[in-house]
Amino acid sequence: METRRALVTGAASGIGAACAQRLAADGVHVVAVDFDQAGLDALDGVETVVADLSDLERLSDLPSDVDILVNNAGVQQVAPVEQFPPERFSYILRLMLEAPFRLIRQTLPHMYGAGWGRVVNISSVHGLRASPFKAAYVAAKHGLEGLSKVVALEGAAHGVTSNCVNPAYVRTPLVTAQLADQAATHGLSESEVLDKVLLEPVAVKRLIEPAEVAELVAVLCGPASASITGSSFVLDGGWTAH
Ligand code: NAD
Repeated sequence: METRRALVTGAASGIGAACAQRLAADGVHVVAVDFDQAGLDALDGVETVVADLSDLERLSDLPSDVDILVNNAGVQQVAPVEQFPPERFSYILRLMLEAPFRLIRQTLPHMYGAGWGRVVNISSVHGLRASPFKAAYVAAKHGLEGLSKVVALEGAAHGVTSNCVNPAYVRTPLVTAQLADQAATHGLSESEVLDKVLLEPVAVKRLIEPAEVAELVAVLCGPASASITGSSFVLDGGWTAH
């Protein structure tokens, strides 16, 4: 993996930070992108670029000569559909579906030229299942699943794979921030939200650690992954076994 270059989005925190560090530990040259400068500064052994990934016209400034692309940046917003702010819906689709499309589009020529490439899209169980109050997030992740499969079909002849990773709830700020929102929406305390809402459908009754997700991403980018493409890897403590 020492000769590979990777671009990881949303790398200042949570799953993205874990993926950046995990790939760097394999010797990959990682370019970590985020709009959180302080979070990027806390990373070790990676190149960092500060950028707002929702600003689609600026994405062409990011390096396109990478062999591995991890589309990870994302946000959550919890509200019933009839109260969901339309501009927030657009923002979430832009950040979590259009930006991945643009980054895939501009990095594929380098991967095709090299005859090798790995696209890993950090989707979610919500790429495969819906939950109430998460219209934009669920729509974006379902869209990302479709995009990933099309890239898998087109990229196969060029040695490029594309897959989704689909975690249930991971211990990151995205989830801890959501506890307060969900508590208000459901009329519960934050610990009740964790037990009765978030972990209710999950057989393994704990939050997943970011490093567990990063380990799966490393496998999908590693030497044994050439035939793994167009798939979605559920890492959900048994949620979708129901
Ligand atoms: P997080 O909040 O810890 O990290 C998200 C990162 O994205 C942050 O560093 C943030 O600064 C960055 N980001 C957000 N908007 C940005 C923008 N406009 N421009 C640049 N950077 C931006 O969240 P996380 O839990 O690590 O989530 C990462 C991905 O994993 C998301 O796509 C999320 O949907 C997915 N995911 C998370 C969970 C979970 O339970 N935490 C579960 C399934 C999927």
